[in-house]
Amino acid sequence: MLFSESFIFTLRQDPKTAECRSHQLLLKAGFIHMVSSGIYSYLPLAWRVLSNVNNIIRKHMNSSGGQEILMSALQPLEMWQKTGRDKDLAEIMFTFKDRKQRQLCLGPTHEEAVTDIAKRFVSSYKQLPFILYQIQTKFRDEPRARFGLMRSCEFLMKDAYSFDIDQKGLDASYEKMFSAYKAIFKECGLDFVISEADPGAMGGTISHEFMVGADIGEDLLFCCQGCGKFFKDKGSCPDCGRLLEDKKMIEVGHIFKLGTKYSLVQEAYYLDNKGIRKPIVMGCYGIGISRVISAVAEVSSDEKGLIWPSSISPFDVSLIMLDESLRAGALDLKDKLECKGLSVLVDDRNESAGVKFKDAYLIGNPYIVIMGKKYISECTVDLENRKTGEKKSFQPEELLRFIPDK
Ligand SMILES: [Zn+2]
Repeated sequence: MLFSESFIFTLRQDPKTAECRSHQLLLKAGFIHMVSSGIYSYLPLAWRVLSNVNNIIRKHMNSSGGQEILMSALQPLEMWQKTGRDKDLAEIMFTFKDRKQRQLCLGPTHEEAVTDIAKRFVSSYKQLPFILYQIQTKFRDEPRARFGLMRSCEFLMKDAYSFDIDQKGLDASYEKMFSAYKAIFKECGLDFVISEADPGAMGGTISHEFMVGADIGEDLLFCCQGCGKFFKDKGSCPDCGRLLEDKKMIEVGHIFKLGTKYSLVQEAYYLDNKGIRKPIVMGCYGIGISRVISAVAEVSSDEKGLIWPSSISPFDVSLIMLDESLRAGALDLKDKLECKGLSVLVDDRNESAGVKFKDAYLIGNPYIVIMGKKYISECTVDLENRKTGEKKSFQPEELLRFIPDK
C-alpha cells in the first residue's frame, strides 16, 4: 500500500475529546472516527487490526470445533420476554417498534436467539454436541460510554455457544473454549490473567473472566505481592500469606457454564438414547473484539505512539522513502517483502522526513525500514524495531533474510 494513495490521515494535534491513552492514540493515528459520543467508525488502519484479530479468533474457534454463523442483529422483544431478560437488561437495550407495530430490539447479546435456533433444529441426542459462534456488532444503550472503544454503544463481539447432552459434555466444551481463549489472547500479544467470576445477568453456575491489567480498567483484582497470583477478594494471599494489592483490570473475555437456564425456559429439548426428553446443556463464550484492540493500544505504546504486536499490526513494515528518486528501489523492496507474506506501507508522500518518521512511530507497525541517501551510495537501508528501538543497516537481500516470513 502506498501512503500517498491510502485513506490514512493522522492528526497533527492531540485530539481534545480523548478520554484515555488508547482513545487518544487511536484517534490521533487515524485508526478510528468518532461519529458521536460512544459511537465509532473503524477506518482502514483499525479495520486491518480488527481483521487480524478476527482471523486469529476464527483459526482457534474453528480448530476447536466451532462453526461460524451470523445471527440477525434485529430481534423480536417477545423472545426476551420469555426469559425475563427484557427486564434485566431494560436499561441498556435499544428497543423500538417497526411499521407493523412489532416490538424489536437491537441485540445486546444472543443467548435467546441462538437457543431459539437450537430449539428449531435439534430433536435428537445424535445432533449434539456442537458449538456455534459469530462475529457481530452488538448494541448497548451504555449509560457510562467512555474510553473510546473500551465502552461504547455499538461494538464488535465474538460470541460462541455450546450445546451438549449433559454436564459432562458441557465441561468438555467449556475446557475446549477455555484453551482456545488462552491461545487467542496469547496470539493477540495480550498479557492476561484469568479469574473465576460471578455469572451475573448471564445466569449459570461457573464463569471465568480474561482480564488485562490497565489503569483505566473498571474491574478490580487483588494481586499477591509474594507469589504474583490474582484473587477476587482483598486481604492476604491464601497461598503464601502476603498482602494482596488491588489492580485495575480490563475484561476482554468472559466464558460461562449456562447449564439449562435458557433451554428450560425456551423449551430447547432433545430426546436421549432412551427416548427421554431432556433440556440441552449450554455454555456461552464472549470476546470483546473492539475492546481487545483498545486494550492492546492502552498497554502497548510509548511517548511516540502505538506499538502493535506483529500478529495484529495494521502492516508488518512501514517503509519510509526519503526521496522521490528512490521510488523504484522502494517499490522493488516492497514487492520482495510482500513475496514473504508481509504487508508493507510505503511512505512515498511528498512530506518532510520528520513528518514521515513521526507518523511511522505513531501508527506503530513493528518494523520501520528507512530508505535514504545511503541506498544510492552504499545500497543499504536502515531497519528500526518499533518496540525495542534497535537500529541496524542492511543490504536489501540481508534485510529480506532478517525479517521473518509470515
Ligand atoms: Zn501469594
